[in-house]
Amino acid sequence: MVVTRFAPSPTGFLHIGGLRTALFNYLWARRNGGEFKLRIEDTDQSRNSAEATKAILEAFDWVGMDYDGEPVYQSDRFDLYRSYITKLLDEGKAYYCYMSKEELDALREEQMARKERPRYDGRYRDFTGEPPKGVEPVVRIKAPLEGEIVFEDGIKGTITIKADEVDDFIIARSDGTPTYNFVVAIDDALMGMTDVIRGDDHLYNTPKQIIVYEALGFKLPRFYHVPMILGEGGKKLSKRDGAADVMDYKRAGYLPEALLNFLVRLGWSHGDQEIFTMEEMLEHFDPTDINASASQYNPDKLLWLNAHYIKNSSNERLAKLLEDFGVYLLSHDKREILLDIFKERCKTLKEMAEQIKEVLETPKDYDEKALKKGMKGEAVDILNSFADALREQKELHLPTDFHALMESFVKAKEIGFGKIGMPLRVALIGRLGGPDLSDVMSIIGKEETIERIENLLKYMKEKDA
Ligand code: GLU
Repeated sequence: MVVTRFAPSPTGFLHIGGLRTALFNYLWARRNGGEFKLRIEDTDQSRNSAEATKAILEAFDWVGMDYDGEPVYQSDRFDLYRSYITKLLDEGKAYYCYMSKEELDALREEQMARKERPRYDGRYRDFTGEPPKGVEPVVRIKAPLEGEIVFEDGIKGTITIKADEVDDFIIARSDGTPTYNFVVAIDDALMGMTDVIRGDDHLYNTPKQIIVYEALGFKLPRFYHVPMILGEGGKKLSKRDGAADVMDYKRAGYLPEALLNFLVRLGWSHGDQEIFTMEEMLEHFDPTDINASASQYNPDKLLWLNAHYIKNSSNERLAKLLEDFGVYLLSHDKREILLDIFKERCKTLKEMAEQIKEVLETPKDYDEKALKKGMKGEAVDILNSFADALREQKELHLPTDFHALMESFVKAKEIGFGKIGMPLRVALIGRLGGPDLSDVMSIIGKEETIERIENLLKYMKEKDA
């Protein structure tokens, strides 16, 4: 049985690096029919907030990553941690240390002066005397004095740390609260973790955690330390690159499956396959295939994937999702044609919503450049006659009806398509570019098309006056 977890510290929103770690753990557990658990590491009450926890759960919900059981909150487990501190003290595997801050500072300075790495010198390790008065002691764990701490990392290979690089670190502060590496080891062991996949910023916490596992006789999980995601130019991922809130991607119009597909490929690959459905990720993901070097965030690739998933979404789903962007198409009579057109053209739901609005809403103003380019020469006259041509036709519904009309219009006038196309674009959507004009006219209908032409002609008249 494989058991994994995601263990965020709720200090802010969930960023994409965190979501990638969660995804890797999720995939590995699910692929093996195991369990994926969520643990909220909220022991640092000054830095943690309930909102941040809520935001993390919300992001999980959006991407559809389900976890087993209820989330475990470290803040509920202080009694449990305390019992293990007592156990280690009773067994002589941990001890009280009465060094004051001043003494510790002095020790550090001496060591630095001797060019040694600052570390606790073990002076209370075997202390049996009378403890100094007025000092609330901390509890330190007995780390090995010689040899090495060695573990196999599933991504980085064998990691060896000399015993003298790890000192007797604090497991309980003088106020009795347990420290980070201590509680993580206890929780991972008691929650039955078999595989711990986490950011490689935790690589050097692992030897400390191993000391706790060994002191308590717990079985070690397999560790995988995932290299970080770099931003543009190989620098640390910044907010601008996308270190932002996972929910910002929702607000920017990304589909959750596009984001997950994007994230799974950051640092992991399966041949040269780029597009992975959840089923395919589950079929192929193996944390030992994670790249040992850092990966790079590429916003264009995310857009490309998003466009792919938008194109392949049902119109019904898109119509529902677009409601968050102020476009209501669920019972719109032109829903199918609108969505068929725009799902092919747009990379995000937000872009889609903007372009759909542009078609459905009469332009409020006209783009300056488009006016200059589109309304020169005989454009006003041509638009006028085109409006007449529209008025003369009774049955205009399908894009092909409008297309045929435009064709006969340019033929009769002996003009090129652009001569009507450009001014008509300005009239219908207020700018150049945009979708096929026959599609636009079919969507808004003959009467609205005439009205938009009249609006532009009126605007041109007022401008000239
Ligand atoms: N709470 C840690 C973090 O948010 C993760 C610890 C772990 O995965 O072991 O970075």
